[in-house]
Amino acid sequence: MDISRDKLNEWVKSLDLDMVGVAGIDGYRDVEPQWNPLSILPKAKSIVVFGKSIPRSYFRGIEEGTLWNRVNRQLTPKPAYYLCRMFEDNKFLAVPCTPLAPERWPDGVVFKEGKPAPNVTPDIYYAAQLAGLGEIGYNGTFLTPQFGARQALGMLFTEAEIESDKPFKSGQLCDREKCKACVKGCPAKALSTTPITRKVGDQTIQVGKFENEKCKFCVNGAFPDTSLASAPPNRLAAACTRACIACLEDNGKVKTNYKSKFRRHDAWGFDTFAA
Ligand code: SF4
Ligand code: SF4
Repeated sequence: MDISRDKLNEWVKSLDLDMVGVAGIDGYRDVEPQWNPLSILPKAKSIVVFGKSIPRSYFRGIEEGTLWNRVNRQLTPKPAYYLCRMFEDNKFLAVPCTPLAPERWPDGVVFKEGKPAPNVTPDIYYAAQLAGLGEIGYNGTFLTPQFGARQALGMLFTEAEIESDKPFKSGQLCDREKCKACVKGCPAKALSTTPITRKVGDQTIQVGKFENEKCKFCVNGAFPDTSLASAPPNRLAAACTRACIACLEDNGKVKTNYKSKFRRHDAWGFDTFAA
């Protein structure tokens, strides 16, 4: 291996991050070029996904309906910048992944036959599940055993070979058949109980289908995507995901040291076009 896991863990800790996982390139065999890190760094050997927990307090005002904080699902560019420098100081190329809405693609002209149009936008949740950090939940949010839905993620691709993690097996956190608290938690009924399927490496998972017109104007805590106004919003603090946070904690799937429950009374909410 070019970089040991101990070394990577040390770098991540020095940047005050809470988690790191590594996905091998094998999981990208069948990924379309416009979503594939290999279109950006053809000799990439490892996809590194890292994250930091978001304190519960960030959700409090929205849960009470009294203060709207923006709860970012992706990290600022700074940790990726410093991690890339650490790789480069050790003689290996590393490229930070810019978090853009995949719906922006195609976002420019094809410059060479056989190459995808810009901007190639690898899916960070897909990478995070392959890197063993957690799983994509029914409501499309990324869930981890440590923090449930409460983390922001970042990602880079590197030519360094690093021991990879096993992909996280779906269903350990999100019990799609029995739970669906996210569906019940949407006051606008924008999340369907009828799932669609998607591939994550070798696994086929089920995720809910959203009525994006309703989500785009959601008044229950969602924020517009900052990279594309017409893309689905950031739902991390929306009613659907806050219901998930409460459900995972109340059912003991995510253990916390908080003395009080996340949800302390019935959730408020409005249908999108009723507010
Ligand atoms: S973002 Fe808003 S409208 Fe969409 S599913 Fe979540 S709570 Fe419902
Ligand atoms: S609320 Fe339940 S079904 Fe929905 S994403 Fe969370 S764990 Fe999965």
